[in-house]
Amino acid sequence: MKHFDMVAIGGGPAGSMAALTAAKLDLSVLLVERDPDIGIPVRCAEGVDVKGLSQFFQPDPKWISAEINSYYLVAPDGSKVKMLSGLDSGLILERSVFDRMIAHEAALNGARVMTGIEAVAMTEYTEGLRTVTLRSDEKEWDVRARVVIAADGVESRVARWAGLKTRVGLDDMETCAQMTLANIDIDQHAFSLYYSSKFAPEGYAWVFPKGRKIANVGLGISGNFAKQKTPVQRLEEFREHYFPETSIVSRTIGGIPCTGGIEKIYADGVMVCGDSAQMANPITGGGIINGMIAGQFAGETAAEVLSKGGAEEKRLRIYRKRCDDRFGKMNRRFYRIKESIITLSDNRLNEIAHKILETPVEKRTPIKVLRSALLKEPGLLRLLPKLLI
Ligand SMILES: Cc1cc2nc3c(=O)[nH]c(=O)nc-3n(C[C@H](O)[C@H](O)[C@H](O)COP(=O)(O)OP(=O)(O)OC[C@H]3O[C@@H](n4cnc5c(N)ncnc54)[C@H](O)[C@@H]3O)c2cc1C
Repeated sequence: MKHFDMVAIGGGPAGSMAALTAAKLDLSVLLVERDPDIGIPVRCAEGVDVKGLSQFFQPDPKWISAEINSYYLVAPDGSKVKMLSGLDSGLILERSVFDRMIAHEAALNGARVMTGIEAVAMTEYTEGLRTVTLRSDEKEWDVRARVVIAADGVESRVARWAGLKTRVGLDDMETCAQMTLANIDIDQHAFSLYYSSKFAPEGYAWVFPKGRKIANVGLGISGNFAKQKTPVQRLEEFREHYFPETSIVSRTIGGIPCTGGIEKIYADGVMVCGDSAQMANPITGGGIINGMIAGQFAGETAAEVLSKGGAEEKRLRIYRKRCDDRFGKMNRRFYRIKESIITLSDNRLNEIAHKILETPVEKRTPIKVLRSALLKEPGLLRLLPKLLI
């Protein structure tokens, strides 16, 4: 049976960053990915902010499809509010290339990367080790790890095997459908977010340009509404309404847990990262950068604790603190204000849009928009300065 310091399960941005960080710090690392190709299929609109991404990699044209300098908020009545890019500018990635690049870097730094391999079971933590059972086709074998990284995405089983609570209520699960549309006539340096109870109740629709008149167009709705009409049906209607002349070149579906995070993100010999720990921003659903930050913290924490002994639960508390300080506390605040924002009526959204349109474009900031949205919620309004900081 093979022994590793770290076994990272899931080759998304979170798992690959954990593997890369740990390998750089001289741990022996195995990264396993269930799909045959890392980065494929892409279940993502691929938007990130430059500042977040630049903590890890300098933007490279090989995995960037569009640069963003502004965006539009579109009200239910079709009013389009142009915003200059908020606190920072953005990028639309080519995730099939980007995700693979991170795994490639991990391998170049000494991690063993295996694709087409699924983790199917994990034992209790015994004598400083977890045993993980891996499966490829009909073959099964065990590997041992001093620490396991649960980075197996939205439906994480690894965190549950470690006894952690990951259940998501229907109302907090954004169910999404997305198409890549070709021949779409939009500003290729601006993304758009559409709010409307008709197309995206308790969620929003997005149009993210990918250059050359191509865009990721999708929507996410609260799971509560998915039974009435599926996100796929709603997206068909949205496309018919706004972009009838386009061609559909790919389709995908997926879920984003928008809970503000699971309560506990570590257990004896296990750290949970990215979507497995529900680390996406609960308002926007963006989870790539938080997943990468958590992966990096998990890799660093693993190297620290293993150099002093083992990865017992009490020694992994620092991992939670690091995530909390960087984005966890903020996500919990965002979760508190999410409810007030998603339940705004179409009329109120139209009013807000008209009000903001009276402000010159250079003075329109995300905080001003949030402030208008929360005007009738003085308790939550007080959270805004903290969020801004
Ligand atoms: C429609 C949609 C649009 C989105 N748009 C954006 C966006 O624009 N910007 C943004 O920041 N975020 C976006 N997100 C969220 C973002 O995609 C995720 O937050 C991000 O991918 C999380 O990274 P991760 O590494 O935690 O998980 P994932 O990227 O999901 O990676 C998990 C990996 O684990 C593998 N795996 C699962 N089980 C096992 C197993 N048992 N053994 C081995 N491997 C396993 C999976 O195959 C997968 O490759 C979007 C999500 C959806 C669904």
